[in-house]
Amino acid sequence: MKVNEIMQGFCSKNNIDISKEALAGFDTLCSSLLEFNAHTNLTAIKDEEGVAIKHFADSLAALRFDLVPVGARVIDIGCGAGFPGLPLAHVRRDLSVTFLDSTAKKLKFTEKACKELGISAEFLPVRAEEVSSDKKYRESFDIAVSRAVASLPVLLELSLPFVKVGGTFVAYKATGAAEELEMSKKAIPMLGGKYIETFEVELPESSDGEVLHHSLIVVKKVKNTPIQYPRRYAQMVKKPL
Ligand code: SAM
Repeated sequence: MKVNEIMQGFCSKNNIDISKEALAGFDTLCSSLLEFNAHTNLTAIKDEEGVAIKHFADSLAALRFDLVPVGARVIDIGCGAGFPGLPLAHVRRDLSVTFLDSTAKKLKFTEKACKELGISAEFLPVRAEEVSSDKKYRESFDIAVSRAVASLPVLLELSLPFVKVGGTFVAYKATGAAEELEMSKKAIPMLGGKYIETFEVELPESSDGEVLHHSLIVVKKVKNTPIQYPRRYAQMVKKPL
């Protein structure tokens, strides 16, 4: 199946509004990603169907659960080549998205792809823990999203400082959501969060019959994050909260 057909099927099954132009945009994005990936390593997924299912549809899952309010200021932490933030920004032009990643070459692709799709966004080529205490970014986002960056306790310490009180953090997890949540029981309240729910996402079926199930872990920000967080990365990893 073609990229736009996979995306149309996924969006219609999950009640996600998507225009014809946005569907065509996913074809363009897929070609750009695979072309760039041929000379600069961005993703291990090298076929169109895999990109549509595992990058594009997976990224849009947050829309299925109405987690992203109209006009929200969103940050994608460790976005790499733009996932999940790029498909979200493409389908939801009302959002104001900041893409953050410490690997400049990946962020460069995200910036190029945004230009091609006519998305205006902010790009931060930095480590999350180095800017989350900056007044400009601390507790200033309605939504933080992140996929495949760190274990949940570390990810929470990297991400919750960016979220304003009343906002939401959404962690995209391919496997082990329940175990990671169990490991984060202390970290969530310590960082000002409250666990809300884990949503299960069914990705489109691949041509060889594989159906993947991923999870979205949703944490609400209910209090300010104490100023001592985030700690240095080595400390977060060595002694997770
Ligand atoms: N989120 C993308 C995705 O799902 O395709 C990329 C995932 S990739 C496995 C992990 C990314 O997180 C890398 O691009 C890496 O540079 C970034 N990263 C890891 N730790 C980070 C940190 N502390 N601050 C910013 N970026 C970080």
